[in-house]
Formats: sequence, C-alpha cells, structure tokens
Amino acid sequence: MLTKIIRITIIFFFVSCNVYAQNINIALFHGVSIPSFTCTVHEGKYDVLVGNEVIFSLEPNDVVEFSIRRNKIHVSSKKGSTTSNSPVFIRGLQDICFFTLSHPLLKGKPRSYDNDMFVSLEQGSFKIINDVNFEKYIAGVVESEGGSKAPLEYYKAQAILCRTYASKYYTKHLHEGFNLCDAEHCQAYKSRCSYNPAILDAALQTAGLVVVDSSRNLISATFYANSGGQTVNSEDVWLTAVPYLRSIQDTFSIGMKGYEWHKEISVQEWKQYLQSKGFSFEPYQTFTPFTIDSSKTPCDSLVYIEDEQSMRDSLYSADSLAIVTIDSCQQYTYDTIWHVKSQINFPIDYTFEQKERKKYFSFRECDTLLRLREIRSDWKLRSTFFTITQNNNTIVFNGKGYGHGVGLSQEGAMRMADLQYTYDQIIKYYFTGVQIMSIQAVRFFQIE
Ligand SMILES: [Zn+2]
Repeated sequence: MLTKIIRITIIFFFVSCNVYAQNINIALFHGVSIPSFTCTVHEGKYDVLVGNEVIFSLEPNDVVEFSIRRNKIHVSSKKGSTTSNSPVFIRGLQDICFFTLSHPLLKGKPRSYDNDMFVSLEQGSFKIINDVNFEKYIAGVVESEGGSKAPLEYYKAQAILCRTYASKYYTKHLHEGFNLCDAEHCQAYKSRCSYNPAILDAALQTAGLVVVDSSRNLISATFYANSGGQTVNSEDVWLTAVPYLRSIQDTFSIGMKGYEWHKEISVQEWKQYLQSKGFSFEPYQTFTPFTIDSSKTPCDSLVYIEDEQSMRDSLYSADSLAIVTIDSCQQYTYDTIWHVKSQINFPIDYTFEQKERKKYFSFRECDTLLRLREIRSDWKLRSTFFTITQNNNTIVFNGKGYGHGVGLSQEGAMRMADLQYTYDQIIKYYFTGVQIMSIQAVRFFQIE
C-alpha cells in the first residue's frame, strides 16, 4: 500500500514537474510605469478575453491599443473594443504565435513575445505578464544576455545556465503574481528569440537540462563577459565561499573582445578618492610633537622618506633633516640625522600591481584595506583585475576582463565552442565539480 502511495505521488509529481516546466510567467517592462501601449499580432490567431468570455479575435497585422479610462482597462482595435475592470487575457490559439509590444517610454525597437499575455492595472499603470513556453523564454533570455553570432555549443551552455537560474528562482516573484521579471534583477528578457534561430535550437536541444552541485542542488549559474584570464572566487565578490565557484586560470578568455581595458583619471581625483577611503598621504604631520633624542643634533624638519638611497643621493641640497622611516601606516623610527640644505619633496608612489587576481587594494603597504570590488563600483570599471601606474599628472588603470569574474566567462566559452569543446565540457571547466542533469531528475532526488 505504501509503495503504491509513493508511486502515485511520484507520478503526480512528474505531472506537476511537466506543468512546472511547460510555461513560465514573466512580468514585462518591470519597474516601468506604462500608461498606454500597443500590441500588434505578427504570427498566429489570438482571442481577446475578459474572464472566460471571448470579446473579439485577432489575426496577423491586427493592432490593439491599450489605455486607461477611469481606472479601467480600455482595449480597442478594428475587430472590437471593450472597457474592463478585470484583467484582459490575450490568448494564442496556435503553437507558434507571437505579438509585438510598444509603448511611449520604450526606447529602441518594439519588442516581440511568444504565446500569451495577461494585462491588468496596478496603481494606475499597466501590469503586463507574458505567459510563455519555458524553452522559448530561455531562448529569449539567451538572445538578450548571450550575444549573437556564437557557436551552437556556446548557446547550449548558456541556455543551460539560464534555465538553471529560472528553475532555481522560479518562485522569486510569486507573491506579485508572476515567476520572474524581465529586468536584470532576474534575467534580462528583452524579446523573444528572433534574430538567431540557432539559439532556439540550443534551448530545445538541451530542454530540461540544469546544472547541480555535488549535493544535487541547483547551482548559482553566474556568468559575465570576460574573465581577463583568471576567474574569481565567489567570496571575493560576494559574501560566501561556494565550492563550485572557484578561481581558475582561463586562457580561453585571453585576446577576446572584452579582454583588456584602459582608463585614465587625474592624480588629484585619485588622491582625493583614497583620502576619502581613509588612506593617509601626509604621515609626518601626524607625528608631531616628535621627541628628538637630545644626544643627537636637533634638526629643522622631519620628512617621511620612502627611499633612503635617493635621500643620500640628494644630501647636498638640504639643510638639517631627520630620516624618518615608516614601516606601515602608523609605525615610525628615526635613526640618522643628516645635515642637508633644504627639504626635498619625494613623490608618492601610486603603483599597484596584480599579476594574479587580488581581493584588496593596498597603497604604500598601508594597513588600510579597500576591496577591489568597491573601487570597481565607485569608478565604474569593467573589472577588478587592474594595475595602476602614474604618468605625470595622470593615474592609468590597465585592466583585464569585463564583469564580476565569478562563474562562466561568455567570451571564454565562445572560444571553447570554436575549438570544438562541448557544452558540458564548457560548463564543467568554469564550474568546479558540477553535474548536468534534467530538472525532473533533480526533483526526483529531492523527494527521495
Ligand atoms: Zn526580478
């Protein structure tokens, strides 16, 4: 009896999984207040419904205007019109049917979407939800996030990552009446897959496949444009160390489009910035009053010397001066009193190196630590993988990579696909110790 119950539970479970995997509800233009919009049917036939009642039907090239009249949805087209308190449902009647949306605030091209659409009002603005086939949604996301003109195996890897994200966060917006939004907050979904049919093929050929860790949990499938030759440990960007998000040497990203970058700012700007972050530039002022050993000749001034040899070389130009050696920010000693002619200004060394990726920025071996991710964010740098040099009054950043660097490098993955690596080899290269399996199998192991 118990076995039978378990079997029925499992069968029911697979049915619910299939339902779960068939369609997904995505909020379109999320975060944008839309007072009116236009829907144009491109392919297939549609019914316009309020509740269960069909108000009118649409064919390709039919245009529907949505506006707000006295807090109600007003829908009008040549085929009919209605004003409704309740949500309006645009239901596709065939497998392949899609429409285009445009609204006054939308910059760029109109956006196309597959399958169905629910339209309701929320706080004086339209709430538009695309009820779309799961794999068509994945293809739309890959086209929005993954770039065009790449090899098929790359698109397969990217489709599996986007599907893993969508499966892991399927209930993220459920309290608002949909699964995911179309913004970067979830995954960018700017349109149906319309420019590159290979992307839809990649989604369909890998349908249902997701990436799991060694405990068969869906992974955080993170990606970015280019690693700069080395990926980043998760804890260096976010808070937690994740076993499959480890830093690796990534030769495939080297030389690709987003591999190198360059930025220049003035020394003054950089100095002000470092001061605002607690770095000290004038240490000797903080040492007064300074007790000088009375057995030694008093001197006129105390100067912070970074390079004693250059001080010795310049002795003939200074008056009376003490050599003060500072080992880290607040630690100092003085040993020799030199009779020199005048105070010499020694330049500040702004050089910062990263042969391998570091987590923190350091300056003059000072104890103050600044996270590289903070500098990247403050200066809108392409990556945290940069070196700093000074050229007269200019601070020069020479950087490698584009993006946070955790997980898969898109350009590295494209290069691997060009070199005939398969999607699973690509994913396992960037994510340490993961497996690829069907979402149904993942859920099956979870209920076991
Ligand atoms: Zn979201």
